[in-house]
Amino acid sequence: MMRIIYPPKKRNRQPSVCEVHGCSFRMIAKHALIFYYHRLNCYSFNALAGALDGDPSLADSRVTLATNADNLRAVTAAALKHHHRAIVALSVMTCQFEEMRRIIRQLRADCGEKVVVLAGGPHVTACAEEALDAGVDVAFRGEAELNFPGVIRSLFEGQAVHSLQSSPVRVDMDSFVSISPKRGMFGPIEITRGCAFACSYCQTSHIFGTKLRHRGIDNIVRQAASLRSGNRKVVRLLSPNAFSYGSNDGRQLNMKAMRELLSALRQTMTSKARILFAHFPSEARPEHITPDTLDMLKEFADNDEIVIGAQSGSSRMLEVCNRSHSVENVLTAVRLARKYGYKVIVDFIYGLPGETDEDMRESLKVMQEVVHLGARIHPHIFAPLPQTPFAKAEPGRIAPLFQQALNGFKSQKSIYEIPSRGSDRRKANSNNLLAQ
Ligand code: SF4
Repeated sequence: MMRIIYPPKKRNRQPSVCEVHGCSFRMIAKHALIFYYHRLNCYSFNALAGALDGDPSLADSRVTLATNADNLRAVTAAALKHHHRAIVALSVMTCQFEEMRRIIRQLRADCGEKVVVLAGGPHVTACAEEALDAGVDVAFRGEAELNFPGVIRSLFEGQAVHSLQSSPVRVDMDSFVSISPKRGMFGPIEITRGCAFACSYCQTSHIFGTKLRHRGIDNIVRQAASLRSGNRKVVRLLSPNAFSYGSNDGRQLNMKAMRELLSALRQTMTSKARILFAHFPSEARPEHITPDTLDMLKEFADNDEIVIGAQSGSSRMLEVCNRSHSVENVLTAVRLARKYGYKVIVDFIYGLPGETDEDMRESLKVMQEVVHLGARIHPHIFAPLPQTPFAKAEPGRIAPLFQQALNGFKSQKSIYEIPSRGSDRRKANSNNLLAQ
């Protein structure tokens, strides 16, 4: 159902001064813009803020960040004391959909139609109608950098906006950025979008496509250099598949492109800056852990940990999941990375659709082997995600067999513990697998 939403009918031409933002405008002060800057979604908002920065008419617009639901209510109510409307932007993963409903109900109860709710992200991309039915005013399908600034501008200017926004083309990575230094919104720098593998549980290839788009080295280096303005000393490189940078098909490594990127970053950053590659929030596919990639990491990157996506130790389940690698690839990767001296974290998924007792036993055997090699397990519970081949499957449960093994791994300190502050949305969102 396509709807058109309208801004307020009455227009106050009097200049107003905003106590929340301290701004004094005629038109723009009529609308406050608020991002629900949840730790699972902050990277998306960093990119959207970057898109606003790149639009001359919005570059100086104020954005308020709310980091939890209570804070969002409070900030929205405060903003409405000085603005006619509050535009609240949400990014929603499947595991956050119920929270989104709750938030909208609360905002409507508090502020009625003075709140305009915008929502995007993986779940809204897949289920935009469901989001609109839940009370979202404008739903964004897919990558929003292209149309988000236009929607904000239209709302600020009091123009009509379609409730369903779909980006007409894929975003050109070099036309946008991942962070907004001027707003103090920092995070990983996204170097690649899209994934060739289309694993059966993962949304990445459906949202971003199977043809990869890589950000140019100049753009990445410029963003890395701008981290200094926020006194940030860590450059995290974000990609669905860490070693796919520069690859045409996403499967064959492009060592030249990766070396050029890392070397350019190394030259730009001070000796105190740390470059993290093949580390959270990215992961490496096991078959891409080779002497070449590890030599390159040793030469240019600073992480002493590598994250490898295995997902199952059962060959049958790897095939069902369309992983396109073998169990042996996983074990070889862990052995090699350990030989190079890396701490290794290996992702596994519990409760995959159709997993039999035999598959579980095989998976457990591989986990034990991985732990024996000195790696840690990062366990995830399967969650069905819309648009994926497993969308209609039942959510996974931890079988007693797995639970027992998990407890054992935990007592050996062989389970990767999620850091308290979200350095990685996928890691924190461990039951909502978007990752390798
Ligand atoms: S799980 Fe990883 S390799 Fe598979 S489709 Fe998703 S991003 Fe690509």
